[in-house]
Amino acid sequence: MKKIFLMGPQGAGKGTVAAVIKDKLKIPHISMGDIFRETVKSNSPLGNKLKEIMEKGELVPIEITAQMLKERLNQEDCKNGYLLDGYPRNLEQAEILDNIHSVDKVLVIEVDKKISLERLTNRRQCRKCGAIFNIKTMPTKKDKVCDACGGELYQREDDKEEAIVKRLEIYDIETTPLIERYKSKVVKINGTLPVDKVAEVILNSIN
Ligand code: AMP
Repeated sequence: MKKIFLMGPQGAGKGTVAAVIKDKLKIPHISMGDIFRETVKSNSPLGNKLKEIMEKGELVPIEITAQMLKERLNQEDCKNGYLLDGYPRNLEQAEILDNIHSVDKVLVIEVDKKISLERLTNRRQCRKCGAIFNIKTMPTKKDKVCDACGGELYQREDDKEEAIVKRLEIYDIETTPLIERYKSKVVKINGTLPVDKVAEVILNSIN
């Protein structure tokens, strides 16, 4: 069973690289942010509450997050492991994860703030399948249309500057202490390398 925690600031390229390596590792990519965005689409009271929190760039309350994580990790496709992206985001969440499973490897994709900000402001996501593009460095063939499924591209509300600054601040203060906590399992990767190279370094470090 491969239980991998993929870590890095917003804009490090976690989602992009996860899409490349999940098939090779034959484990699902579990993005907490994607799980929440799916719930937002439902327009339920919980979805509306999550939408409000996420648009401000704040963290979803710990109990809601833990509950949704547990439900996802209990699904059949996780029996051989998973690539966890966006959880844990602080020491408290790491405790919760330890009580479910302990992860084998922590991959930290590093990029500096200037690059994160630039990547996020240029990032566009498909409303339908969640694929990620960049209007400057990875544009779609047809303007605002997803190359993968033909869905409509949009800019996430939390990819606007004010929310980005807040999210990066939370990462610095709450998430980076996890590097020390997991230190024997940590592999650091330079996130400014091309995606294929980042994927290669990750795969080599796992196999
Ligand atoms: P992401 O797609 O990873 O950037 O996550 C988008 C948003 O979802 C975050 O800004 C938070 O509002 C929420 N979120 C994702 N993961 C977590 C988590 N582990 N704990 C609390 N909130 C989260």
